[in-house]
Amino acid sequence: MQTISNRVESLSASQTLAMSQKSAELKAAGIDVINLSVGEPDFPTPEHIKVAAEKAIEDNFSFYTPVAGYMSLRKAISAKLRNENGVEFAPEQIVVGNGAKHALANVIMATVNPGDEVIIPTPAWVSYIELVKLAGGIPVLAATDITSDFKISAAQLAEAVTEKTRAIIMCSPSNPTGSVYSREELQALVYVLAQHPGVLVIADEIYEHILYTGGEFVSLGTFPQIKDRTVIINGVSKAYAMTGWRIGYCACPPEIAKAITKLQGQMTSGASSIAQKAAEAAYTGPQECVEEMRKAFERRRDMVVEMARAIPGFKVNVPNGAFYLFPEVSAYFGKTAPDGRTITNASDLAIYLLEVAHVAMVDGAAFSAPGYIRMSYATSDDNLREAFSRISKALAALC
Ligand code: PMP
Ligand code: GLU
Repeated sequence: MQTISNRVESLSASQTLAMSQKSAELKAAGIDVINLSVGEPDFPTPEHIKVAAEKAIEDNFSFYTPVAGYMSLRKAISAKLRNENGVEFAPEQIVVGNGAKHALANVIMATVNPGDEVIIPTPAWVSYIELVKLAGGIPVLAATDITSDFKISAAQLAEAVTEKTRAIIMCSPSNPTGSVYSREELQALVYVLAQHPGVLVIADEIYEHILYTGGEFVSLGTFPQIKDRTVIINGVSKAYAMTGWRIGYCACPPEIAKAITKLQGQMTSGASSIAQKAAEAAYTGPQECVEEMRKAFERRRDMVVEMARAIPGFKVNVPNGAFYLFPEVSAYFGKTAPDGRTITNASDLAIYLLEVAHVAMVDGAAFSAPGYIRMSYATSDDNLREAFSRISKALAALC
């Protein structure tokens, strides 16, 4: 029996990936599972991006890449940030990593000391808390619920900040709730942050393009009061349906970019040459593919909200971005299933729905929000219809 380090022993496994793995195993065993657990676009990567990758192979882009990424890609990202988001980051301030998750891990490892506090509004994506803990930091959770559309207020933020606060991690559009902060809501938070100049603002903007009618995406980097201490996390996974290519980046103050480059130079080196060339094509090529996928997600959003509202025990918000629905499901707690099991929490409910309805979803507790479940609607209309029909039948059987 080998000894495992304390830092890994105390780390929780990624629940989103674990649930997806479980659903893949059931599928392999012949069970017809509909997977609404993992959040990734169900579309193939657009053709022109695949062609760029093929060309990179042909052109022998097969050598080690610069640690921070090819300069051509960093220039393309710098131009994208200026043109699409209205924020200025020189290519030297951008470090490309193996996905946005890696970029986020880099930022946290490079900036958080043991004992530092990091404010995380919840519900929050599974990796934020664990990465902060891995760095020895203390996650300070600022809880929200469906009544505030899962958004923190300025008063809540002001209360969470202490002299130990090193950073805050914001995510809009949000995983897991789909909520999108308006310009005014962000401005109110920025007003509080402006009074605490030592707090780094980490803005996870990976879902910026998956935004629905009426919503406006505002990058936290656009507020002059915090611009010099804002780190933007983004990547190609969601906007360009490239989750498996593993390209993400952080755009940050120059000294943090240098620190991350040193860290990445020891831990992983530069990201894949072929994937970087593909990402460059994503940023510099035609953008219609992004809008086509966005439209499909919006149509599905409308569909799932309607189907979820027809389920008596579900309380739902209307997500204005990302591709998740986050119903409150506590009406089912205390009920008994035909097989005799009692549903005491959302984890029991998710397991019941997986085993009985063969639909995989994630327990809200994984996002620090017990009482909710997360459903990803990044799957076909047929799958969604069938999933909801199975879910309603299984829930109706509880009494
Ligand atoms: N941030 C959020 C909010 C996410 O949902 C994801 C996808 N799991 C990531 C970051 C990481 O994305 P990537 O595939 O680029 O690592
Ligand atoms: N964004 C996805 C999710 O939350 C990917 C899985 C992960 O990396 O956690 O389901």
